[in-house]
Amino acid sequence: MKAAVARSEVERKTARQSAAQVQRAAQGRAPKGMRPLGYTVAGGIIAHEAEAVRAIFIAFNAGSSLSAITAALSGEVSERTLPKVPALPRHRRTVTIERNDRREAESKSLPKEKQRRLRPVPANGPWPPSTVLGILRNPRYAGYTTYTPNNVQAGGGKRRSWRASILRDEAGEPVRGQWDPIVDEGTWSAVQDRLDSTDRVTNRVGTERRHLGSGLYRCGVCDQRLRSHSGSYRCAGHITRSREQVDEFVTATIRARLARPVPADPLPSQDEPRLKEIKAEIGTHRARIARAQRDYDDAVIEGRDLKRVREHEEAAISTLNAERVRLSTNATAGVVLAAAHPVTASQAADLGAKRGVIESLCEVRLLPHRRGVKAFDPESVQISWR
Ligand SMILES: [Zn+2]
Repeated sequence: MKAAVARSEVERKTARQSAAQVQRAAQGRAPKGMRPLGYTVAGGIIAHEAEAVRAIFIAFNAGSSLSAITAALSGEVSERTLPKVPALPRHRRTVTIERNDRREAESKSLPKEKQRRLRPVPANGPWPPSTVLGILRNPRYAGYTTYTPNNVQAGGGKRRSWRASILRDEAGEPVRGQWDPIVDEGTWSAVQDRLDSTDRVTNRVGTERRHLGSGLYRCGVCDQRLRSHSGSYRCAGHITRSREQVDEFVTATIRARLARPVPADPLPSQDEPRLKEIKAEIGTHRARIARAQRDYDDAVIEGRDLKRVREHEEAAISTLNAERVRLSTNATAGVVLAAAHPVTASQAADLGAKRGVIESLCEVRLLPHRRGVKAFDPESVQISWR
């Protein structure tokens, strides 16, 4: 009996707390709990941290890998990112020190037995990649308010849960937080798409590529994207070319191109009107889902109709998202192109960013090597500038 009472008391308390959390979120107030990198507990901006967050998003969008970004943030200079991600002490360490300082200040006026104990400060080791992933996933950086009930796995999986945790109003529009965003919505969204796309079909400057041209160069015979296979780029039956030779040639050609002024706006990325259109179209599809959801709630349509509408609209949304990734991915290769010294910038860039630069400047097609010719023939690599 006592246990039952206690349990229901706990349940009531939990319900009360989560109702308060929902209300907080709906009002766009900063959620309680550990402050995210870049924001104070109250939701204000911490300039040097916010700068790091921005660099993390842009670098990832420009093709830097999660591990390159993590290394840069940890102060390891093995791989460089573009823009440069500054080294910072681990966030958990910073936050623990801050909390201890607060407690110490608060408890000065308290009698000894009421003073709260200080927590052990974690050592300053390298950042865990999962923390960096958490930063890239956090909707708060784009100014979105979030709420995920503790007992619900939103969206049915870890991958979707961040997007699904964005609190939406009745029209399906995201609720804005009262804090200043650190990255714009397009950048945040492009990062989610990149993290989401497992096959990376729409994302040829993807994060997991290990070679400059795999999935990027095309076969000069059939126009398919080339795969990398033991030291060469291949298209079955058409092309087998030494990777080293081709990459050397492409790199030198790109370097020469970057030494000359690049057009101020060679990128389809600045296609603002199209990006706006995409945004509006996505809004329309979301509204349809919301309407179907209401109809279902009102028992006007059945569960399977809702499912059908949802699947149909989600498919349309993901196609639009893919297009948006293409537009904004190229935008971020602009970091190299817009640098004061693009040649130096491209040399410092990691593999992903280098691929981004190639993709935004030209298309590379490999022709079969002529029989009996040993020497590399520059004519066998076609570079068509955009
Ligand atoms: Zn082919």
